[in-house]
Parts: sequence; C-alpha cells; structure tokens
Amino acid sequence: MAWRYFLSREVPSELEGLQELAQDLRWTWSPQADRIWRRVDSQLWNATRNPWLILEVISQKRLEELAGDPEFRQELSRQLEERKQYLERPTWFDLRYPSPETCGPVAYFSMEFGLAEALPIYSGGLGILAGDLLKAGSDLGVPIVGVGLLYQQGYFRQSIAPDGHQVEYFPFNDPALLPIVPLRDQDGQWIKVAVELPGRTLHLRAWKAVVGRVELYLLDSNDPLNTPADRTITGVLYGGGPELRLQQEMVLGIGGWRLVESLGIRCSVCHLNEGHAALAAIERAHSFLDEEGVSFWEALWATRGGNLFTTHTPVPAGFDQYDPALLERMLGSYVENELKIPFEDFLRLGRLWGRRDEPFNMAYLALRVCSATNAVSRLHQEVSRRLFAPLFPRWPKWELPIEVVTNGVHVPSWEHPEADAFWNRFCSEERWREPTEVLVEQVRKASDEELWELRNRCRCALITVARKRAYRACACRGAAPEELQQCQCLFDPNTLTLGLARRFTAYKRPTLLLHDPERLVRLINHPTRPVQLVVAGKAHPLDSTGRDLVRQWVLFSERPDVRGKVLFLEDYDMELAAEIVCGVDLWVNTPRRPWEACGTSGMKILAHGGLNVSELDGWWAEAYSPEVGWAIGDSGEHGDDPGWDAQEAEQLYTLLEKEIIPTFYERDHRGIPVRWVQKMRESMSRLTPYFSANRMVRDYVDGYYTTLSQRYARRAAKGGRIARELFQWERELQSHWKGIHFGPLETETVEGEYRFTLPVYLDEISPDWVEVELYAEPLPETSAPVIVRMSRGQKLVGSINGFLYHASVPANRPSSDFTPRVRPFHPEACVPSEVTPILWYR
Ligand SMILES: *Cc1c(COP(=O)(O)O)cnc(C)c1O
Repeated sequence: MAWRYFLSREVPSELEGLQELAQDLRWTWSPQADRIWRRVDSQLWNATRNPWLILEVISQKRLEELAGDPEFRQELSRQLEERKQYLERPTWFDLRYPSPETCGPVAYFSMEFGLAEALPIYSGGLGILAGDLLKAGSDLGVPIVGVGLLYQQGYFRQSIAPDGHQVEYFPFNDPALLPIVPLRDQDGQWIKVAVELPGRTLHLRAWKAVVGRVELYLLDSNDPLNTPADRTITGVLYGGGPELRLQQEMVLGIGGWRLVESLGIRCSVCHLNEGHAALAAIERAHSFLDEEGVSFWEALWATRGGNLFTTHTPVPAGFDQYDPALLERMLGSYVENELKIPFEDFLRLGRLWGRRDEPFNMAYLALRVCSATNAVSRLHQEVSRRLFAPLFPRWPKWELPIEVVTNGVHVPSWEHPEADAFWNRFCSEERWREPTEVLVEQVRKASDEELWELRNRCRCALITVARKRAYRACACRGAAPEELQQCQCLFDPNTLTLGLARRFTAYKRPTLLLHDPERLVRLINHPTRPVQLVVAGKAHPLDSTGRDLVRQWVLFSERPDVRGKVLFLEDYDMELAAEIVCGVDLWVNTPRRPWEACGTSGMKILAHGGLNVSELDGWWAEAYSPEVGWAIGDSGEHGDDPGWDAQEAEQLYTLLEKEIIPTFYERDHRGIPVRWVQKMRESMSRLTPYFSANRMVRDYVDGYYTTLSQRYARRAAKGGRIARELFQWERELQSHWKGIHFGPLETETVEGEYRFTLPVYLDEISPDWVEVELYAEPLPETSAPVIVRMSRGQKLVGSINGFLYHASVPANRPSSDFTPRVRPFHPEACVPSEVTPILWYR
C-alpha cells in the first residue's frame, strides 16, 4: 500500500498498482507514460504532467469508470509489467560489480534536484544535472540515494508584460500534490530528524520521491513544532541572506546525513554536489566518532576516504562564504560539544590564512573533507586547479588533486518520441541502460534520408508547440483576433531554425546575436536562405542586467520586420527546454570563457540531430571538432571586455553568413543538404553517447565510487585502526616536517643517463613515511610532468635518520630540469589531497 499525505483516496482494487505508477518519476522518461495518463485525464495530464496530482484530484467516479474499462486495465497491467521488468532485470551495475563489497551505497547530496516540472525544487543547470544523475543511476542500477530539500516555494515562473518586462510569480509547492510521500518507518510513523540551532531544536520532516530504482529523500522545516521563522528555513531555494543559506546547508548536510543513517542505510560513499553540502561530511565524521569513540580528526580520516566533492564553480565569487562570527553562532556548540574540537580548529578547515576576518569558504571545506574532488569538464578542471591552487602551496599545477568527470544529460528524459523512434531503428531499446560506446557505430549507419527526415519531423514538432505557446501567451495578454490568427502560422517548417535558451545573466551573453540587430534582421529575412529563431530564458529577479537582456529579446521579437520569425517563449523550464531542444537545427551558446563550467543544454539537442555553434567553453571546448559543429572564440580568456564581445559577435555573424546558413541550404537532387546531414551524423554518433549521463555515471562508479567505497572500508575497519594510524602519521609529519633538509645533490652522466645522488635528513620522520622524488616539468607537447622515485640507499654515517637517495633518468634533456623533492607517503593516504606539505631541493 502506498502511503499518502491525506489518506483519503481509495483506488478501486481493479486499479491496483496505479498509485505506485503515479508516484514513480520514471514517467518523466518512460515512453509509455503518455499512453496511460492521457487516458486518465488528458486535460490535467497536458497541463501538469503530474500523474500524482491527477490521482489526487480526479473524482471517485472517474476512477470507477477506469476500473470498469477493460482496455484501460490492460494498459495498466502492461505498464506495471514493464515497470516490474525495469526494476527487477539485472542491471549494468549488477553485472559489473557482482560482489557487494566493491561498492557500497552512495548518498548524493544536492541543494537542488531537477527531475520534473511536477517537483519544482531546482533553479537551473546544477539541479538538472543532479536529477539526470539520479535517473541514469536508476537505469544503470547504481546503489545511490539522493538527499535534498523540499522547498515550500518553487523557483519563480516567468511571464512577459506587454512592455517586454519579465514578471515573476512564486508558486506554492503544495506537498499533497507533489509526487512525494512522507517517509515513514515500518510502524507508519513519520520519520523526522532534528538539528540543533542556537537555543532550540529544529525539527525536520522527511519525504520520499521515487525515481525508478532510486529514492530521493527531501527534508523540510515546515513542522508545526518549529518557530514560525524556522518553519521557513526551507521556504525558498537560494532565498534570503547568509544566515538562512547557512541554515539550509545545515539542514541539507547535518540533517541529511542523520536522515540517511536513521533509515539504516550504511553509506560508504558520500558525494557532495557542490560545496553547499559539505556539512554532510562533517556530520558523517561526527557519527563515526560517536560510534567508534575516536577523536574527530581520526573520524575524519576514516570517513574522508569515502567522500567525493564535485565542484561546479568557475569563479571564486561562486563559492559560498560565511562570516566566521555567523558560523560560530550557528555551529559553535555543535563543534565544541559534539565534535569536541576547538572552534578555531574547525574554522581552519574552511580558510586559507586564518586571519581573524577571513571568511569561511564552503568549497575549501568540501575539498578538505573529501579524499577526491572533480571538476565537470576538462577546461573546468584547469580552471578549478587555478582556483584551488592556494590550498596546495608549492605543488605544481599538474599534480593538484582535482580530477574531471564531464557532465552528461539523461537522454531518455530529453529525447522526443521522434528521436526515440529513430534511435530504436539502429540501436537496442535498452541502449541507455547499458554501456553506450557501441552506439557510435550503430547510429552512424543512418542514411541521409533518415537523418534529414528526423530533422524535419523534430523541427515541425517544435513549431507546433511554439504556435500553441505563442497563442496562449497572446491570448492572456488580450491580443486582437488578427494577432491571435498570426500565432497559428508562426514560423516556417522548412526554414533553418536557431535556438537559444539559458539563464539570462551577463556572462552567458544571451544577446550576443543582437549586437548588430540590422545584420540579424538581414539574416532572418534573406530571400532564399532565411533563418528563424526561438529564444527563452529567465533572469534572476534581482539581476537587473539580466532582466534587461530579456527585454531586449522580447522587444526585438516584436519588430514588425521579424514578426512571425523570432519568438521569445516565456517561462523557460524543463518542459519548454525539452520542446526547444527537440526542434532546433542549430543551438547557439555564447558564454564568456571560462565562465561556463560545463553547460548541458547543448547536449540535449544531440540526440535530435541538432548541431551546436558555441563558444569554446565548458563541454564544447572538449567536444568540438570541425566535423561535428562550429565554434567561436579563440580559446583565450578576455574577461568582460566589450571590444572582445563585439569581435565575437562579428565572428558569429560571419560564420552564419558564410558557412552555416549556406551549408543548410545547399541541397542535392533529393533536396537533402548533404554536408549538413554529414555533420549531423558525426555529431549524433560521436557526441550523444559520450555526453550522456549514462557515461557520466559509469565514470563516477568506475573511477570514484568503487575506489572510495573500498578506501573507506579499509580505513574504518577494526574501529578505524588505519584511520588512527593515518592521524598519527599526519601529526608526525606536522611536527617534524620543518626539520627535513638536504645535503648537496650530485649528478653524473654515465652511458646516456643522469645518475643523481642526494643525502636527505628526515628529522624524526620514519623514511617509510615519505617519498623522495625527482621532478621535471612536462616537455613541450606533453601534459604530464616527469616524476621519478628516488630509491633509499645507505644510512648516512653519524646522522639521525639521514639517507642517501639515488635515481637514474635518461639524459634526453638538461639535468638541471630535474629537481629533487620530499613528499609525504602512506599507502592509504591521498597526497596532496589529504596532506599538503612538500619540500623542494631548491
Ligand atoms: C538544461 C537546462 C539548464 C542548463 O542549461 P545550461 O545553459 O547549459 O547551463 C537550465 N535550465 C533548464 C530548464 C534546463 O533544461
């Protein structure tokens, strides 16, 4: 039996299972969903895409009717069978990791999750990524649970006023109508967790959303036991000032980890999606400390082995930073009474210099409480290494412990039924539940005709919905009948269709195409090679620049000379995004490098055969090649220099005029643009499988979750024996590192080799606990430095802990390129992620 918020709804026994089906957000990516929910109530389904809500509000009479409809019952049982199969079939994960010790459960913490419009607890890319990750985790059978917050208000909805201004509406998230249920224990008791705030206890209610095989747990503070102010802590996503933000992060991190534990889930891996969630790692250590009776630092050594931090920010301003006084007020007693460490020591985890007024940086905290950190595109890895370099003084940038897992999108959630049907012709229906590398060659087999047909169908699908949306918006504004009439014939189904949809904020440069409006008008109205344009996006309510950018597009679209060919669609959300990415021939993305950490919207068009023209930033910097699309920019960084913006606008216009538009309109005798179609084929086959959440999740599992899970298990075993040893090791290094010094380096050249000999005095540090190495910067054309371990030879007579170290290297570059250094070593430690000292010979 499914628990409900209000226990009022009796579903006739003939419809058993309908509630489970309605609750499982797999409707957002199951091609069958439409078939059943439209039958239940097509109007509600079209308006809300929320089966849970439909079941909540339709009449008992309608349910009885459906119960008496044999066709409906048949459809239901087909879908229940299909769901059962989905849940029970062996998955990629089962087959790859049959032994449960390889990878324990993963808890994935995120401030936002974009799973469906029916559950509006996201604002943009970060949340969509988290949602796509859970969905792909479900498809692949990864043992993962999501942890997030249930906001009483969804992110704002947008409409456009007659004068072109953005108007915001803040919808109320009625928990009874969201596809979530209270999380109850076996006795039916609503599960709650508590977090201490100054002078009071914050009571948090727990909810559950079902995402296929995966569960997402959400906490909210709107409990009558809390003070009125505390009840609004989970009121709005990213709302309020620093105090509220910190409280939300305490709820997510501390409350979230407590919730996972109270459910009896013994997580081995804690994955922090952005620094907001860093307190989860602190609470994890707290829990270990309580259970094993060790110190906080020993507990941190144990648990950090299983923590992963994904950073999404390309600029320092993107990090959450808190005034230490605020932090002390909110967390002081937790740190001193629960973690049992001086508050000053805690502060050090989030700071660089330790000046009194230095803010506490949540990203620094996240990095220091995790044994692995990853960026979200290769370019972002470089940028992140720059941002975090101050945490690793004297370490070469090549060795900074920030790895990369490039983001991907959950293709089944974004692909239009037309695209699904197309892919089904060449690939297995199970394609997104299995490794995707095989798809590359399969989809390449598509003929020119098939590819072009797909493109035309998808473009038409967009035009149909664009007309409907435009009609509705016009009607709401009270437009005249002739204007409404015009909405019905907006756009032309054979015209090259450009799309851009994004957050309207300065760095995304959403109006780059408007740099020279007359030139754009000429492109649009070209007599034989016209283009049309779909635009959407919201500006943050407080971002007046962004709001002005929205208005510029709206006003442009109302110019009489482009009317019917340029459309600003209001209220950009997941649903509108899916409609747009399906239909556009060309996706235009123009961020200022390197401010787009990855970007995912351009990946959503791939499965539909859309092509990208984009700044060489984020994912496009690694995806682009001339065979798959077009690029602007020069791979350099130019800040917000308006001169450079102008130059790039020029570059974009020229590329469109000379290259892109002619390619689209150059047809062979069949009417097919052969060069365009060839690019589609390359883009679809090379990029779609790789830039999918399927590949991303497999990268996380193979590269991180398994390693972290086992590392944690080793460190935690026997009451944290290894963790305690690591703690001692770190202490010893700290006390004696300054005493390490070198004797003179000697270099001989023998038979084409350099032989280096170096006396090293290790103070009281055991020689097993350090490594002496030769280091040389990468040669031109390579990206990895040369690191050669020096072997320890005889003890130096008369010395305390002094040894002679040796190494030989090929003499193919000057011997002065090689510099000896001493760094910490322990087989169970991650260096320099967890301990950072390093000593260079010079
Ligand atoms: C995919 C998506 C995003 C992320 O887009 P980027 O511009 O690539 O960061 C944001 N909002 C919505 C509604 C989306 O669907």
